[in-house]
Amino acid sequence: MSDSAMPFQLTILGSSSALPTSNRYPTAQVLNVRGRFFLIDCGEGTQTQMRKYKIGFSKINHIFISHLHGDHIFGLIGLISTFALLGRTNDMHVYAHSELQNFLVPQIKFLYPEDIPFRIVSHPLNFKKEQLIFEDKTASVYSFPLDHRIPTCGFRFEEKPVLPNLIPEKLKEYNIPIRYRQGIKEGSDFITYDGRIIPNSELTTNKHKARTFAFCSDTRINESYIESIKNVDLLYHEATFASDNQALAQTTYHSTGEDAARIAQKADVGKLIIGHFSARYKDHKTILAEAVRIFPNTEAISEGQVFNVG
Ligand SMILES: [Zn+2]
Repeated sequence: MSDSAMPFQLTILGSSSALPTSNRYPTAQVLNVRGRFFLIDCGEGTQTQMRKYKIGFSKINHIFISHLHGDHIFGLIGLISTFALLGRTNDMHVYAHSELQNFLVPQIKFLYPEDIPFRIVSHPLNFKKEQLIFEDKTASVYSFPLDHRIPTCGFRFEEKPVLPNLIPEKLKEYNIPIRYRQGIKEGSDFITYDGRIIPNSELTTNKHKARTFAFCSDTRINESYIESIKNVDLLYHEATFASDNQALAQTTYHSTGEDAARIAQKADVGKLIIGHFSARYKDHKTILAEAVRIFPNTEAISEGQVFNVG
């Protein structure tokens, strides 16, 4: 299968920080890992953005919430109400601080005294250390602590490796019995009857590298989470401020473009994308320019942008 048949694709629904602007939405992103959709943060307007960028509501079964600030969660109740209107019955899994319940349950009770037609399954995050929070045959998701004013987690999404294809002509040429074929797919060489070693590379094709994405919002920079994002193909890191507000970034537990770029450099990631821009900046030109000087492969995100990894 080609990579277009196996998407690892991030869609940006919101690129802004807490204060509303006329053309940007607060944080929300959707990652599609080979047809498995993960919603990451759910700022106000997320559901309208999903409609706009054609993310099917029924595809969303897993929502990851980095922290309980309004600009990352105000979209939840709207989305839940729409799910209820559409008669959803599938469980919705939410990975967040356990206190999210105190915010959501009273709203749901108020709006739906008879209850909603689906279950919300909550998975509390660990804010002390990295943790595997989701796993199936397609992907694994890890949470790891960030350094923000309130407990906050980043997330790392890892695609499960896809086994390569066997080359039919080679199977015939070396007369390879069926019982050895799975082993060869998993990387073994083949030894013929007369003791010749046929290297795996000669027998397989379409080797596929498992792709990774990490999400870091909101946080001030801290060496502690570099290990958790090491070598990812794509890193989203917040960059609320430009360097003119370095001191403010520290006291408000946020990052500058330069901060994000330094983290990307230390973690040796493939590509950096930055967002969560403060509404005080007319555009993100300065923040981006400052980041690019340190980590050239950096892009500023905007609504509707799609990043394909691999
Ligand atoms: Zn925040």
